[in-house]
Amino acid sequence: MAYDTQNIFAKILRGEIPCAKVFENEHVLAFKDIAPKAPVHIVVIPKGPYTDMDDFTARATADEITALLRATGAIAREQGLDKTGYRVINNCGANGGQEVPHLHLHILGGKKLGRMVAAD
Ligand code: AMP
Repeated sequence: MAYDTQNIFAKILRGEIPCAKVFENEHVLAFKDIAPKAPVHIVVIPKGPYTDMDDFTARATADEITALLRATGAIAREQGLDKTGYRVINNCGANGGQEVPHLHLHILGGKKLGRMVAAD
């Protein structure tokens, strides 16, 4: 799937739409999810134009991949989630339930999270 430059996270990266930023470096931006599913719900994205986990793991540089995971851990620690535990989710493609076509990791924490996958 071609990268859609008009997706909402691309607009956030270009500064066309505001976000509640919690972290930024050369390769990564992280911000609070607009519809949080837990007391802490942060979206972590690469700055590069990657549609999903498949695209990112196929095309991203080692530096970009390392930066995304390092940032995710650092943000979780900064939020105090290393003490209590947390969940990192990536929804990839249609069966994964991905809504925004720019790769993102969700950091969820601040409460005991339920089942990993909802029962049918
Ligand atoms: P996914 O279903 O994995 O693609 O997740 C997309 C996430 O983006 C959802 O949790 C939305 O609440 C979140 N979201 C959509 N628009 C924004 C926005 N403008 N700022 C922050 N989070 C957003």
